[in-house]
Amino acid sequence: MNTHRHVIIVGSGPAGLTAALYAARANLAPLVIEGLEAGGQLMLTTMVDNWPGFRDGILGPDLMAELRAQATRFGAEIIQGDVTAVDLSKRPFAVSVSDKVYTADALIIATGASAKWLDLGVDRKLSGRGVSTCATCDGFFFKGRPVAVVGGGDTALEEAIYLSKLATAVTLIHRRDTLRASKVMQDKAMATPNISFIWNTEVVDIKDLDKGEVTSLVLKNNQSGDTSDLAVDGVFIAIGHTPNTGLFASQLDLHGNGYIKTHSGSRTSVPGVFAAGDVQDYVYRQAVTAAGSGCMAAIDAERFLAGTGH
Ligand code: NDP
Repeated sequence: MNTHRHVIIVGSGPAGLTAALYAARANLAPLVIEGLEAGGQLMLTTMVDNWPGFRDGILGPDLMAELRAQATRFGAEIIQGDVTAVDLSKRPFAVSVSDKVYTADALIIATGASAKWLDLGVDRKLSGRGVSTCATCDGFFFKGRPVAVVGGGDTALEEAIYLSKLATAVTLIHRRDTLRASKVMQDKAMATPNISFIWNTEVVDIKDLDKGEVTSLVLKNNQSGDTSDLAVDGVFIAIGHTPNTGLFASQLDLHGNGYIKTHSGSRTSVPGVFAAGDVQDYVYRQAVTAAGSGCMAAIDAERFLAGTGH
């Protein structure tokens, strides 16, 4: 395989695949390195009702399969593999995937963002054994059992509403006494009989690591300092996301919250490197805005390459 490309795109969510579609149609024969979480966050959702053009909605994985097929129809090449290192200090840029090095005249970063953990240690250790960051992936395992959801944003409420159809009871645990989620989502959750709320409370421990399963949560009220136990079989952590910028952190300008800084469209602090989707967007974070920014990145890359004689 040709290891030098005009354009390499890292990431295969809506931003990466839309960038691939536009770059392919511009005859740039892009290479997409799709990463271990191929398809991005939409692979973890069920029905997507806010992607324009589908009046009855479309399943997240189906949408990604369509986007993938559309990009490859025009000549985008997609390979599996996780990027292990990048060198943005000179052009062509080097992108390592395990022991193979690809080079590119322009690079589009669309690595997205990943769910945050509580950082108790035990939450990661019990991941897949009662602790989850994705209700649509793992909710089925808790059919007829009690669960908890941690967080107060739209994701937490969406997860709680989804789980309420499977679990006997859903307890939402939030560290403040007001929710960050949209009013419509709040109204829906509060009108759901088997969802209850515990306010001003943090999860300080998850039991039982020795048994290798979740049996209860240790909660601490951050106003009174009181601790209590809540018996649940599962806990879903929905406390936001972290941008996947680890590979680029020392080579590109980032915002204080870790997201890549872009200017004049999708340009980063290194000429020839562009960023699209959730890795650079902590405001809108929607599939359709990610796709739009992927389109912008491909057009910006095309113009950059034309300007440098490629
Ligand atoms: P948000 O950042 O909006 O919310 C994160 C929540 O987790 C907050 O309530 C926050 O508390 C809480 N939290 C953060 N860190 C911790 C911690 N260490 N311990 C306990 N709690 C913590 O993230 P979301 O994923 O909910 O949403 C992201 C974006 O996506 C938003 O713009 C949202 O509107 C959008 N979205 C829209 C949906 C829809 O429209 N259907 C569905 C899902 C998401 P605090 O409030 O105190 O900061």
